[in-house]
Order: sequence, then C-alpha cells, then structure tokens
Amino acid sequence: MATERTSLFIFFGGTGDLAYRKLYPSMFNLYKKGTLREHFAVIGTSRNKLTDQGFQDEVRKSLGTAKSDKEAEKFISHFFYEAHDVTDKEHYSVLRDRADELDKQFKLQGNRIFYLSLAPSFFGTVAGYLKETGLTDSKGTDRLIIEKPFGRDFDSAKQLNDALSKSFEENQIFRIDHYLGKEMIQNIEAVRFGNTLVESLWNNRYIDNIQVTLSEKLGVEERASYYDNSGALRDMVQNHIMQIVSLLAMEQPVSFTDVDIRAEKVKALRSLRVYNVADASTNFVRGQYGAGDSQRAYRDEDNVPHDSTNETFVAGKLLFDNYRWSGTPFYIRTGKMLADKFTRVDVVFKKPLIDIFSFPQNHNAPLEANVLTMFIEPKAGFSLRLNAKTNGQGFQTMPINLDYFVDDKDSKDTPEPYERLLHDTLKGDGTNFASWSEVSYAWRFVDQIRKVWDLQQPEFPNYTPGSMGPAAADELIQRDHRQWFYRLNK
Ligand code: NAD
Repeated sequence: MATERTSLFIFFGGTGDLAYRKLYPSMFNLYKKGTLREHFAVIGTSRNKLTDQGFQDEVRKSLGTAKSDKEAEKFISHFFYEAHDVTDKEHYSVLRDRADELDKQFKLQGNRIFYLSLAPSFFGTVAGYLKETGLTDSKGTDRLIIEKPFGRDFDSAKQLNDALSKSFEENQIFRIDHYLGKEMIQNIEAVRFGNTLVESLWNNRYIDNIQVTLSEKLGVEERASYYDNSGALRDMVQNHIMQIVSLLAMEQPVSFTDVDIRAEKVKALRSLRVYNVADASTNFVRGQYGAGDSQRAYRDEDNVPHDSTNETFVAGKLLFDNYRWSGTPFYIRTGKMLADKFTRVDVVFKKPLIDIFSFPQNHNAPLEANVLTMFIEPKAGFSLRLNAKTNGQGFQTMPINLDYFVDDKDSKDTPEPYERLLHDTLKGDGTNFASWSEVSYAWRFVDQIRKVWDLQQPEFPNYTPGSMGPAAADELIQRDHRQWFYRLNK
C-alpha cells in the first residue's frame, strides 16, 4: 500500500470536462492504491446549481461505477459541492467555512490543494481571493494547481505570474504540463543519467541531431474557437515541446530533486538561441491543413473563420549556444491532421568517421547512423539502431534494432499523467511541473517566432491531411543535408 496523503481538494471548475474526464478518475486510482484513504475530502465548485448528492451522482458517472461498488461509494462519500461564482468575493467566505468544517470532519491538518480547472482569465482573480478571504490561512500546506495555458506571450504570462505570486510562493504553484506526467517523458532522465553508454555520448561530438515529433491525427474537433486564437506554436511548442527539449538538453542535475532538475532545465533554456527576424523566418515553418478526401479544410471547420491564418503545424530548428550542444541542432515538429498519432524522440548519432566496410569490390551498403528512438506514446519504449554483420558468407553490414517496449500488462498499470501529477502535488514534488523561469524562457523564445509570423501573410492551406506537414518542413531539414528519421514512404 502507498503512503496515505492528507489534504482537502477544492476544484474550481469542478463540473467541467477536465474534472469529470480526467481528474476524478485519477483521484479514484489514487484511492484504490491507498494514497488517498480516510483523510481527504473534495469540494467541487462551479456556477452550476448542484447539491452534494447531485454532485456525487455526477462523480459516479465520471468513474463509470455502480452504486453497488462499495469501494467507489466510499470514495464518492468524500465529495461535496458548493455553487460559487469565482468573481464573487463574498462567496469565498462560504467556501472557507465549508473547508474549515471538512478539515475538522476528515482531520485534514489544514492541508489544501486548490485546483484551477477554469478558463485562464480567472486564475489571477481566484488566487487573489483565496488569500484575501483567508482560505490559505489554515496552517497546513497550501498548493495551487494551474491548468494550461499559462499566458499567451511573455508579457501576459508575467502578468499572470505576478498576480499569483501575491498569494502563493513559487514552491506552492504547480503549473500543469501533462506531458511531464507521461511515463516515457520521465524515462528520458532514467535513460540519460542511468547509463554511462548513453550519457557519455550525449553531446555534439557524437550526436548529429535530435528530432522531436508530436504528431496528431485529429483536427481541431470541438476546440476550434480556443485553438484558432492559440495555434500550434502556443498550444504545443511553448509548453510540451520546450519541456521535452529542455530534458534532452540539460546537464546532469546535482541530485534528482525538483530544485536541482529545474535549475538545469532553466540553464539549458537560457542557452537556447533566441532568433532575430531573419533566423526566425529561416528556421521555423508553419502550416495549415487544407481539404482531404473526406476531410474539410481547417478554414471550413466549425467556428473557424474562412480567412484564418492560424497555424495547425509547426516545424523548427533549435540551437543551443553551449559547450555540449553547439553545432548539434534540435529539430521539432508538431501538427494536427497528420499521418498518425504519436510522440517520439529520435536521437541521430554521427556516422563512423571512416567506413572500412565500403570498399568497391564489396558492394556493401554504407553504414547507417545509430539512432536511439524514444517512443513516448501511444506505444512506449526504446529502439536503438546499430550496424551489424549479415549472417552468412562474405562481409555485408546491415542495420539492426535493439528494441524494448512496455508490455500490455505494464502499460495497463501505467498511471495516467493526471494521476501522477496529483500524487506529486500531494507530496509537494514539483519535478514534473513547469517552473516560472522555464515558462518565461520558453515564451521569450516563442514570442520571437510569433512576432515574425505576425508580420507575414502565410500561404495557407499548405498541407494535406494524412501527410507529415508542408513540403517546407522537409526542406527545413534537407537544407542541412539531413532527413526526418520518421517520414512517410521512406
Ligand atoms: P469546461 O468549460 O468544461 O469547464 C469549465 C468549468 O468552469 C465549468 O465547471 C464551469 O461551470 C466553470 N466556470 C466557468 N465560469 C465560472 C465562474 N465564473 N465561476 C465559477 N465557475 C465557473 O473547461 P475544461 O475543458 O474542463 O477546462 C478547464 C481548464 O483546463 C482550462 O484552463 C483548459 O484550458 C484546461 N485544459 C483542459 C483540458 C481538457 O481536456 N478539457 C486539457 C488541458 C487543459
């Protein structure tokens, strides 16, 4: 059994899609594993008028359990509801009294987790009122979980952060980036720092380039009105991709703690070259999907303006100006309506300086580069491409793969990102959350690209659904005499 953790959870936006689809089922998993047991309680709040009973019925639906499920019913009995408009300061006193009452009833030691699963425009207001009305005065630990997006550029992110910092210290703020809750993202650190073989080669002497691909098969679905104001650069690059890249690029932390890991990620991001106008135009490309056989063009999707210049695809080259990475580019790409749904990292090593097997009479194929692929999702695992001798007479070489994949049983037991992140918050471990410094450096980089793009009219649409993005994404890497390691029809 896991160590039991004690806390009150207040979910703002507690009747929203995220809460029902991800947060309550993740909490139930923590309950079944023993992290949550007797000493926890939940207040769901939103503008909807619901009774405790009505809320518990909704939570049961979200868990997909029946009333006869005793364990689920016991879990659900810890859930309570307060109708509350987050902009109404008076209402926070009601919430505070309810919180104090539950604190006594469940012996919660004054520990509180405030989860803001709301539109980001409310984040600052809620954080301010929590403090002003004394909800954070309970003498236990207070932690604030913030959903993405954290700002839409550096200035708005700073404004939001300044507002939050009036009520919470940095080590009390847990900024969700659910990619950091994924098993294989956490494996980046294990593979790098747990293996001499890997880490000793992890630099510009031996690595030719690193490629990060977050590919989505679906289009915008029902998120069009949000997405059309955000775009792939803000929605995927500023947060998820920059987090993955910083884990790949960072130096070894002094210890495996949130403080030391964050310090190294920040150092890596500080050495990321922020592009001037000319370099931003050359090193980043954007795309928007057109119509496919049975697919509407992005501009014809519901709630998307017919003249939208929003990007649904980004590819770019990132350069670090430091001793470890100088001269070794990181190529990134992400987009909607691409060939398949997957996230992967391909680490392409340099080829041997001399290919002693390729003498003319041997007709041997040239040696391939070693490639370490980290499969993040949907399948999780690693593949290492090596060169080996073919079986039989003569001397021919061929690439072979050493593969490891998480098997079906293990992947069934893999915690969902939200389960892991809620668990980390209960422990007060900020390792898998984005710190303000990381967020701010990521915005500074992304803002430059955005600034340049906002000055130019894109020629959209420029890629077809089911492809891997516009031709310009291939040209971006081919210009450097390289190829995407994952590509269609290779
Ligand atoms: P949602 O629209 O389904 O839910 C929003 C919730 O906020 C509802 O419970 C609503 O009643 C409540 N609310 C709105 N205005 C309010 C007010 N003035 N006072 C009190 N309550 C109010 O949204 P969601 O999809 O659950 O997303 C919530 C947050 O999570 C957003 O920041 C979103 O960007 C982020 N997020 C959501 C997902 C997802 O899969 N849904 C994924 C990543 C991030």
